Amino acid sequence: MTKRRLIILASLSVIILIGLYFGISFKKPKFLTSTQIIMGTTVEISIYPSNKKALEEAFNEIKKVDRLMSTYKEDSEISSLNRQGEMEVSSETLEVIKKALEFSRITRGAFDITCKPLVNLWKKAKKEMKVPSEEEINKALSLVGYRKIVLKGNLVSFKEKGVQIDLGGIAKGYAVDKAIEVLKKKGIKRALVNAGGDLYALGESPEREKWQIGIQDPRHKDKIFSIIKLKDKGVATSGDYERYFTIEGKRYSHIVNPKTGQTVEDVPMSVTIVAPDATTADALATGVFVLGPKKGMEIINSLSKVEGMIISEGMKVKTSRGWKQFQN
Ligand code: AMP
Ligand code: MG
Repeated sequence: MTKRRLIILASLSVIILIGLYFGISFKKPKFLTSTQIIMGTTVEISIYPSNKKALEEAFNEIKKVDRLMSTYKEDSEISSLNRQGEMEVSSETLEVIKKALEFSRITRGAFDITCKPLVNLWKKAKKEMKVPSEEEINKALSLVGYRKIVLKGNLVSFKEKGVQIDLGGIAKGYAVDKAIEVLKKKGIKRALVNAGGDLYALGESPEREKWQIGIQDPRHKDKIFSIIKLKDKGVATSGDYERYFTIEGKRYSHIVNPKTGQTVEDVPMSVTIVAPDATTADALATGVFVLGPKKGMEIINSLSKVEGMIISEGMKVKTSRGWKQFQN
């Protein structure tokens, strides 16, 4: 064998060895994944490194938020507050209410947790298959307005009798953020907490890359419309496709317009928001859904570190200025 051939063979084996070494070290690490039904949705948590206790505590955080803030549970803090009109609440509930008020200001009242009387009215309409009368809508509307909420320390009170709040547009995102907080405290560096589409992606994915998040096609449930790639971000989508209902052939959304009292009409089919945390993403997705593509996109573009995609009727797509960063 010539000297040159020997050198080539030697360098080839070095390359193979390096390849093997990296092959082993790049092997997909095993994430610990579990799913539970909480807050009326499927909550999936994947974490790395594996830590059963941390996973359990993350689920417990989500259950705690549900216990405090559900309007479906008669004994939740929010249900008691709604019945009494005044109550000292936990620091968690207070935090969510404060954040909700901030998002009401940002969205100029489009996101409004005092929408509960309207939500109740439209729930009744769905059940009875009958659109509410103008009188009923005006009566409910008179109780809506985020400025009717008064905060004094931990005491929450309403300026008028009959005001009620509904945290359905923000609590899931908050629950996701609380779960992530616990995981970080437990030393978890990489995780995905997904509460039915409201999610936070922490660190890198099992493939040691950004997490790939599929955005559902709003008219074809089993199709992915677009894939975005990100890490250390909250993502939420508000769509008209999951909880809509139809009366006499007209489509009604589960999101109400606090200005008109109607369910959102001429709606975007879906709004996806990417933000530094899931609470922000959740509240803004709901608020932008009310605002529609034009005003909604203006607000998204006016906020730093917030990006969004709005899909409207006819699959018209609008993306915010920085959206491209998630598509590479
Ligand atoms: P999401 O699925 O996050 O968009 O939230 C929708 C839920 O938020 C509804 O089921 C209601 O409980 C509540 N909601 C409806 N309309 C509004 C609104 N305009 N502002 C805040 N919350 C709302
Ligand atoms: Mg929301």
